[in-house]
Amino acid sequence: MWEHLQEVDQEIYRAVGAELERQRNTLELIASENFVSPAVLEAAGTVPTNKYAEGYPGRRYYGGCEHVDEMEELARQRARELFGAEHANVQAHSGSGANMAVYFSVLQPGDTILGQDLNHGGHLTHGSPVNFSGMLYNIEAYGVDRENEVLDYDRIEEQARKVRPKMIMTGASAYPRTIDFARFREIADAVDAYLVADIAHIAGMVAVGLHPSPVPYADFVTTTTHKTLRGPRGGMVLSRTGELGKGIDKSIFPGIQGGPLMHIIAAKAVCFHEALQPEFADYQQSILDNASALADGLRERGLRLVSGGTDNHLVLVDLTEAGVTGKEAEERLESVNITVNKNTIPFETRSPFVTSGIRIGTPALTSRGMDEEAMDRVAEAIYRTVTADSDDEQTFTEVRGTVQELCSAFPLYPELS
Ligand code: PLP
Repeated sequence: MWEHLQEVDQEIYRAVGAELERQRNTLELIASENFVSPAVLEAAGTVPTNKYAEGYPGRRYYGGCEHVDEMEELARQRARELFGAEHANVQAHSGSGANMAVYFSVLQPGDTILGQDLNHGGHLTHGSPVNFSGMLYNIEAYGVDRENEVLDYDRIEEQARKVRPKMIMTGASAYPRTIDFARFREIADAVDAYLVADIAHIAGMVAVGLHPSPVPYADFVTTTTHKTLRGPRGGMVLSRTGELGKGIDKSIFPGIQGGPLMHIIAAKAVCFHEALQPEFADYQQSILDNASALADGLRERGLRLVSGGTDNHLVLVDLTEAGVTGKEAEERLESVNITVNKNTIPFETRSPFVTSGIRIGTPALTSRGMDEEAMDRVAEAIYRTVTADSDDEQTFTEVRGTVQELCSAFPLYPELS
């Protein structure tokens, strides 16, 4: 495998091989990651990577686009079918770029965006001061309720009426509960604001109806394609046809991007094709069942979960009472071959580099075929690792053994050798 790479560049060949082995031999619980199918992986490594195709199908600035036109047209059609949307732009290189394109299409610098606070689960592009969104726009942030750690829509409405945003940004990176997009539409209508739903994390569930869809309510729906949707790394924007759709197309090209990544668009088309098959709904249901089993396993062993549990693919664990920081837990789990990320929790008291929590998600392990029984073993492994004394090598060795057993029982990419 990869014989040309091996011949030309030993260093990268070795690093890529080591990364494959790392993915195979660790429990990947980063909620925003997944393992693509072999078909998506193949498509992403194909020759459209060579092709310039500025513009859109049938309206390119370069010759020789007939085959990449077909790929992009298939990707757009399948995306529309999958989400029931009128218009799809599949060229965004990333989720951040998709959000930027939306902002640039209808906002002016200085306009007000009401978005979910980063510490309460929002994403950097929803208004963090260190991100372009926070630098260019006037950001007002909403958060979760202090008692139940769930969005309080009446409070958000009150806030919207006070700050009169031009846009309301919904969607999150670390929010374990269902989002009520219909209620957000009412709030947006009450203040005459655009409504954007960033479904980067939950797109797979939305596609199969296991999370309510924002498509009927939001003016724009943005997403990544590489999380629960299980496609290549990339972004996408859905909208209605007419002015909004035209505006987004202009905003992505020539607004913020040049040539589209046609090999990635081909891989997105394959991902959408897979997502349109009946098995994809079963896969999404398994992600949810696994998250629920993992939440039960962690809670029953005594860890506190933000909002008490999960409705989706992720749990947010508050480690305050366990006596470790998010950073320590992340490092300790990494040392036993379990990958998670430290994460701020609502009303966080520590810095984003330390944090009081970890975020744990099930899409990647579900792609390996793991089930609820495996999730209970994963919960036990996480619990033992974060609550052990820092010098308890015996526990860490035992957990490494459990991880190895699970990785062997649910092999990753056996066809790559
Ligand atoms: N939006 C949300 C809600 C996300 O969670 C993320 C990534 O984690 C993004 C946008 C950004 O996606 P990307 O990393 O592709 O820029």
